[in-house]
Amino acid sequence: MSAFTRRSFIGKNAVAIGSFAALQKIAAADRSGSDPGPANTVLDGQNPDSIWPPGTDSKSLVQNFKYPFSFANKRTYEGGWSREVTVRELPVSKTLAGVNMRLTAGGVRELHWHTAGEWAIMLYGTARITAIDADGKSFVADVKKNDLWFFPSGIPHSIQGLNPDGCEFMLVFDDGEFSESETVLLSDAMAHLPPEVLAKNFAVGQEAFKNVPREELFIFQTDVPGGLEADQKAAAGVRGKSPKNFAFRTMEMPPTRRTKGGEVRVVDSSNFKVSTTAMAMVTVHPGGLRELHWHPNADEWQYFISGKGRMTAVATGNKARTMDFQEGDVGYVQKSLLHYIENTGDTDLVFLEMFKADRFQDFSFSEWLAHTPPELVMAHLHTDKATLDAVPREATVVMPV
Ligand code: MN
Ligand code: MN
Repeated sequence: MSAFTRRSFIGKNAVAIGSFAALQKIAAADRSGSDPGPANTVLDGQNPDSIWPPGTDSKSLVQNFKYPFSFANKRTYEGGWSREVTVRELPVSKTLAGVNMRLTAGGVRELHWHTAGEWAIMLYGTARITAIDADGKSFVADVKKNDLWFFPSGIPHSIQGLNPDGCEFMLVFDDGEFSESETVLLSDAMAHLPPEVLAKNFAVGQEAFKNVPREELFIFQTDVPGGLEADQKAAAGVRGKSPKNFAFRTMEMPPTRRTKGGEVRVVDSSNFKVSTTAMAMVTVHPGGLRELHWHPNADEWQYFISGKGRMTAVATGNKARTMDFQEGDVGYVQKSLLHYIENTGDTDLVFLEMFKADRFQDFSFSEWLAHTPPELVMAHLHTDKATLDAVPREATVVMPV
């Protein structure tokens, strides 16, 4: 039995392999294709390419490049929760870290700042975000599903869930070592300053701050804020609003490219000026393929929003590994490694490609082969001219075209 048929047989019958008849059938074909010891059949069923790797995967090991948010440590509060996947959970993810957060209606991620740049996408519901720019001018906006925001390093900000059911979002920080639990919080900072200093600094009596919380709030429940315009006006004061837009409305732009196989929206500093983190939001229809490509300028951090897919990363030195992904998983591809993402489910596969880079850049494998002298390519691949002529001339992004 070939590696491929063996894989499909076991992948589709993960629960049935325990049966004697099935075992006999595999053993007759290839005794190595059995796994008689203990197994977590549910997890195995979600990871068919790890359980029985395609024959093209290498025997030499490739560092793990998947971590499900399901495994992440969740910090729960009245007002919401937070969990993160950083270099501690996924050691290969050195350049970017992800924090997934839920806020109830009225729930606040308290006023804070940090050294990493914060890129975010709304996954559910609505929220109000606040910040001030480097000139001290205020920014207050409401965001909904698929809207983005970006707060550069050191810009103080907050997030609050709105009616009817708050929000959930994904934060992506441009530092794999980042932790949401190590930020400068308003409550924490105030609790660690002598009362007489606070009184002098704010020109009020010491009594004024006697009720400041003694511990950080991080996430807390309060009332849902009033109208946006009133908040904007109150925050702006006589100085006026910031001319900078820290938010971006992803769905108000047309797809950057659309094919029969799917579509992609690229948002980077060319259209979202304040952002130094680049994003491609990719949709791959059932049977489609995010084409073979690589990124010359940055590692890729992935978040799978919906559907199922698999990815092979081809590393240097005859190494390759294929892993399976689904809703809620984080994936990672190191800079310049060749990869594809195939929709292996029967619904749309939607995922984010994130880069610590001003601009999105990728090289298409097809485009490269199509723009190299054909005789040279044929001499490498032992293929014919008709095959090369069929290769797409330009980047397709998602196949089929
Ligand atoms: Mn933040
Ligand atoms: Mn990619």
